[in-house]
Amino acid sequence: MGKIELVGVEKTFGSVNVIKDVDLTVEDGEFVVFVGPSGCGKSTLLRLIAGLEDVTRGIIRIDGLNVVDLPPAKRGLSMVFQSYALYPHMSVRSNIGFGLKMAGMPKAEIAQKVEAAAAVLNLTPYLDRRPGQLSGGQRQRVAIGRAIVREPKAFLFDEPLSNLDAALRVNMRLEIARLQNSLGTTAIYVTHDQIEAMTLADKIVVLNAGQIEQVGSPLELYEHPQNLFVAGFIGSPK
Ligand code: ADP
Ligand code: MG
Repeated sequence: MGKIELVGVEKTFGSVNVIKDVDLTVEDGEFVVFVGPSGCGKSTLLRLIAGLEDVTRGIIRIDGLNVVDLPPAKRGLSMVFQSYALYPHMSVRSNIGFGLKMAGMPKAEIAQKVEAAAAVLNLTPYLDRRPGQLSGGQRQRVAIGRAIVREPKAFLFDEPLSNLDAALRVNMRLEIARLQNSLGTTAIYVTHDQIEAMTLADKIVVLNAGQIEQVGSPLELYEHPQNLFVAGFIGSPK
């Protein structure tokens, strides 16, 4: 299960209120995309859910449990960043299995999970390579593999494709969609790319200056934007 609920979530940095009274429910298995202009708070909201930042006010529930006082490792979520943060001196195999090793999982079990994840991500031929011997897209797949093996309640993606060139981005987008279909894990995906949002999302959350402007399916937002801001972001392709 992986239901995520935000109730009255606020985040202040110094005197700046970056996230303002956000209420949001992400259902189990749902793929939710956060969109909005640079600086509107997408990453901060994701980091609050992940536990990488503390909320100033409000509640975050994962499967009914308030997690605001739990450290990231206890929340059961896996985050995938735009910078892959792979260990350059380790093989792909070790990179994918690293978190499991740290958690004390037996070697044989790690090997089995790493190989299953590699198969899903078409990484099997590359398991013994180092990150430096991979393309950008392959490296991003390793980062996703590292998230998958932990069998999280939800994936949190922060602009995972923004470092890739255009052609690769399309490929990886299709791959993430395929992955979502096969795993069915809850996902929150941050992007400023309208096409990624429209094609991946079950539900899009449009953020503006730390607040939610509108939540809806891609079609709902496209056909019935609530205001000009949403229309500008979703309704009229740029
Ligand atoms: P986005 O991901 O939508 O581009 P962010 O969540 O990164 O936006 O940032 C939202 C706002 O919060 C920005 O104005 C940013 O400068 C500010 N901010 C983010 N992190 C910090 C921090 N650690 N300290 C101070 N301000 C921050
Ligand atoms: Mg960001």
